[in-house]
Amino acid sequence: MKCRICNREALEKYCELHEKAYRNIVQKYDSWKRAMDVSWKEYLNEIAKNPYTGSWAKEVAEQLLKNEDR
Ligand SMILES: [Zn+2]
Repeated sequence: MKCRICNREALEKYCELHEKAYRNIVQKYDSWKRAMDVSWKEYLNEIAKNPYTGSWAKEVAEQLLKNEDR
């Protein structure tokens, strides 16, 4: 199986590096949600446009936004 973002070998949806970034995003969302009322999509948008976001996390956020149809 290939990573949904890059073409590296993936364990599940993502390769090791994108998986790590994805977990960070999910983890951070919990504290964001507690601090302010922000939706998952708004949160992903914030990550994607934040110039300080690492490129791995940014790629994951963009990928999630593209596939988020809920
Ligand atoms: Zn990847």
